[in-house]
This record gives sequence, structure tokens and C-alpha cells, in this order.
Amino acid sequence: MRIGFIGTGIMGRSMAGHLLAAGHSLHVFNRTRAKAEPLVERGALWHDTPGDVAAACDVVITMVGLPTDVEEVYFGGPAAVPTGQGIIDRARTGTVLIDMTTSSPMLAERIAMAAGARGLEALDAPVSGGDVGARNAALVIMAGGDRETFARVQPILGLLGKSITHLGPAGAGQRCKLANQVAVAIGMVAWCEALAHAQAGGLDPAAVQQVIAGGAAGSWALTNLAPRALAGDVAPGFMVKHLLKDLAIARECAAATGIDLPGLATGERLFTIAAEKGWASDGTQVLYRLYSPSEGLRQRSSSPRP
Ligand code: NAP
Repeated sequence: MRIGFIGTGIMGRSMAGHLLAAGHSLHVFNRTRAKAEPLVERGALWHDTPGDVAAACDVVITMVGLPTDVEEVYFGGPAAVPTGQGIIDRARTGTVLIDMTTSSPMLAERIAMAAGARGLEALDAPVSGGDVGARNAALVIMAGGDRETFARVQPILGLLGKSITHLGPAGAGQRCKLANQVAVAIGMVAWCEALAHAQAGGLDPAAVQQVIAGGAAGSWALTNLAPRALAGDVAPGFMVKHLLKDLAIARECAAATGIDLPGLATGERLFTIAAEKGWASDGTQVLYRLYSPSEGLRQRSSSPRP
């Protein structure tokens, strides 16, 4: 199949690589061309705009950063993509568009409507599993959109993930991913506090991590991210700024349904402090640094509440 891939960053470069390895003809675009070069060296074809990719392909996958980036590549936009050179402008009738970026459910609905009006089909299919899951083709994929379209592209998604689920109409995949991110953010706070608590009590946090990761407190993040945090490795992985983007969308969706999520608010507040310290492009495991005595969180959190 001729498959387009737009957004060859931390996640996209591995995902696109699996499609290439499976023998598909791969067409790529990324805002910074250098990040697509390793794929081009392996046989992918470079195009100068998302529209050019779309015009050449049967299926187009996007894995960009923010909802504004998604808007830009689908509809054309102010910075990286000239007007008229968006995916929806140029794709041929029948092309399937799959946005795997973590983005807004409302935007997914808007893309699906615009695609339908042009005889295209659109799915939202965000993922969980991190950079490790992308590298190992072991992502959890959560899809929204037309069920038959989903069934048609499932073999392609199967090259990227091990758990692939259709959850409902356009936007349903994004809504599931937001639920995932609420759990991720609160879970990050949980293991950071657990290890800070152990360390303050005189224990070796690395030993505690190994023990509790195998018990009821175990989680993907405690197993995969806590060791990086304890080793002082804050390379992303998953960037703080992307988690904050997700939490803002989740907060807006929660507000729209009238539900109060105090754990989400705590996670968002703590990751905002991390971003304000200049750690926005670090991996989310940098949160653990906030709990070191030199960062002052200790005083702030333990001050008497009004
Ligand atoms: P990333 O490394 O920043 O990759 C995003 C890529 O998209 C970058 O290479 C970026 O270009 C490109 N891009 C952005 N806007 C573009 C545009 N208008 N036109 C063309 N290319 C554009 O981020 P990532 O970690 O791979 O994450 C991608 C998405 O997956 C995010 O929504 C994130 O929340 C989600 N996600 C990430 C993880 C994870 O563990 N990393 C896990 C699950 C989901 P530049 O090279 O110029 O920056």
C-alpha cells in the first residue's frame, strides 16, 4: 500500500519505520526535514507538503504534536503548511486519514466531517505505550470513526500496536486517550510521592521501586519511567509540554460534562510547576525532581492550608 506518514518525531519515526519494514511504500513529511532523513535513507519518499503526501497515498497517518499542528496539516495553515496544501485539500477520493496524535475530540469530529464532505474517510487513533511501545510495535491504539473503515485499516494498525480497539464514532478514540492521560498524570504523581516518601524515610528509592513495582502499586510508569528518573535521565520519552496539552483538553472536556476531577487538577498544577522551571521539553519523569529538597516543593506542600 502507499502509506503517508506526517510527523516523524519521537513516536512517528519508529511507527513509520515499522510500515517501511513491512514492505509498504512510505511517503513522508515533517516540519523539520532532518528528522525524516533516516527514513528516507531506508527508502521512504520525501514530499514538500502534507498535501503532496496525501495526493500520493491510499492511507495517510499523522503523528504531530499539538491540536494546532493537527489543524495545520489537515487544513493548511499559517506556519509550516501553505494554504491549499493540507491533507484534506489534496487527498484523492476514498483515501483513509488516520490521526494518531493525542488531540481534541472536537477537532477529530471536525476533521471527520470535512473529510466526509470530500469523499474521504477519517479516523482518530491515538496511542499509549510511550517511546518504548512505538519502538517495539506494542502500542495500545484507541480508535474512533466509522467501524468499516477501521476494519479495513486494522492490518496497518496491527503493524504498530498490540491492542487495537474501536470505541465509537469520530472523537471516541481521543476521549479514551484523555481518560488514559488522566490516569497517567495522577499515576505519575503517585509514584513520585511514593519514592520521595521512601527516600525521606532513609530508604534507597531504587530498591523500593524494584519492590513495589511488582506489587499492587505497580504500573507501566513505575516500571519504565521511575528508573530513568532515579538515574537522573530526563530525556523524553514523553514530554511534559505534551502531557500538559493533554491535561488541558481533558480539563475542558470534563468541565463540559460537569464532572469535577481534583486528581487531574493536582497533576496539572505539579506539571505546570515543572514546565515553569524550564523542564517542558524534558520527559515526564522529570516530575520526580520537584520532590528533591532543593526544589522547594516540600515547603510549599507542607505549609498549613487555609
Ligand atoms: P515529537 O517528538 O514532538 O513529534 C512530533 C513531530 O511532529 C515533530 O517531529 C514535529 O516536527 C512534527 N510536526 C509538528 N507540527 C507539524 C506540522 N505542522 N507539519 C509537519 N510536522 C509537524 O512528539 P512525540 O513524542 O512523537 O508525540 C507525538 C504525539 O503523540 C503527541 O501528540 C503526543 O502527545 C503523543 N504521544 C506521545 C507519546 C510519547 O511517549 N512520546 C506517547 C503517546 C502519545 P519538528 O521535528 O519540527 O518538531
